Amino acid sequence: MRIHALPTQLVNQIAAGEVVERPASVVKELVENCFDAGATQIHIDIEQGGIKQIKIRDNGCGIVKDDLPLALSRHATSKIASLDDLEHVISMGFRGEALPSISSVARLTLISRTADADCAWQVSADGTEQNFDPQPDPHPPGTTVDVRDLFYNTPARRKFLKAEKTEFGHIENLIQKLALSRFDVGFLLQHNQREVLNLKPAATEQDQEKRIAAICGSSFVDNAIKIDYAASGLHLHGWVGLPTFSRSQQDMQFFYVNGRLIKDRLVAHAVKQAYQDVLYHGRHPVFVLYLELDPALVDVNAHPTKLEVRFREGRMVHDFLFQALHRCLAEQRPGRQAAHAI
Ligand code: ADP
Ligand code: MG
Repeated sequence: MRIHALPTQLVNQIAAGEVVERPASVVKELVENCFDAGATQIHIDIEQGGIKQIKIRDNGCGIVKDDLPLALSRHATSKIASLDDLEHVISMGFRGEALPSISSVARLTLISRTADADCAWQVSADGTEQNFDPQPDPHPPGTTVDVRDLFYNTPARRKFLKAEKTEFGHIENLIQKLALSRFDVGFLLQHNQREVLNLKPAATEQDQEKRIAAICGSSFVDNAIKIDYAASGLHLHGWVGLPTFSRSQQDMQFFYVNGRLIKDRLVAHAVKQAYQDVLYHGRHPVFVLYLELDPALVDVNAHPTKLEVRFREGRMVHDFLFQALHRCLAEQRPGRQAAHAI
């Protein structure tokens, strides 16, 4: 057998295997692109659990006409240019893989307009054909990405999709997580033309707590302690549920590192330890926490979906989190509304 280079589409489909597991993964990549574009308003229109259509519109910076074909090309990005940039990356994206991957397993249309352009321009790709010659479009400044018929050309992947309702559940869950990472952005989520979530940008702490209440329930806000703790260059802030407000599942735990939602064993362990003495066995705390640290101290390029990160000083981060939470829980005196475990 001789060695040969794989065709681009196949390379993209292989990459899609890593980042595009289900409709919610497409939504994650697209909304993160809206964040990176500086959008303050994001509309997410979903049809049939996202299997039929995912349409996301933002009012961000847009893409200049000549760059549109590049946006759908592999390893092309506006977000980093060097290894140094990669090591200090603060944008959500940087791999330049999402749009080409998605467009290799679905029918994707990209329409975008920068603030100073006379009109918007559109390009598209669908796994077999690419229309990279931009066509004019009457879209307002910002970007719309329209993804239809996910996995239509990869039946093996399509088979793994669950019922429409389940897939939409994943999307709704994801939007809630993303909405808690960016209070300054408004979100409108619709499913089959029905409004599911409408969150206005939240500037004040009151508005932020309203958004948290809309997502975690108002009883969480009433039963949470505000935390704001900084030491050795690390800063932890957010809302920590009282031990009395625990749950039987780990389904209301939101942890963000530099604005990025992550799942991390070290973090989970530190939190668990801090709550150890105050929670009954088998109960799980509720929290919305934000850790800010020097981007150079955290490697977000550990996994294609970027859900996992690597801390350069893992031990220090662990001890800091434990200290911060332990202190916060210990300082808590009865006085705020008592509640029963839910
Ligand atoms: P990455 O986000 O890693 O750069 P993507 O494939 O997600 O890669 O996007 C490719 C490029 O397309 C981005 O670098 C960005 O320049 C542009 N882009 C994608 N979505 C948007 C958007 N909503 N608004 C403005 N530019 C976008
Ligand atoms: Mg991206």
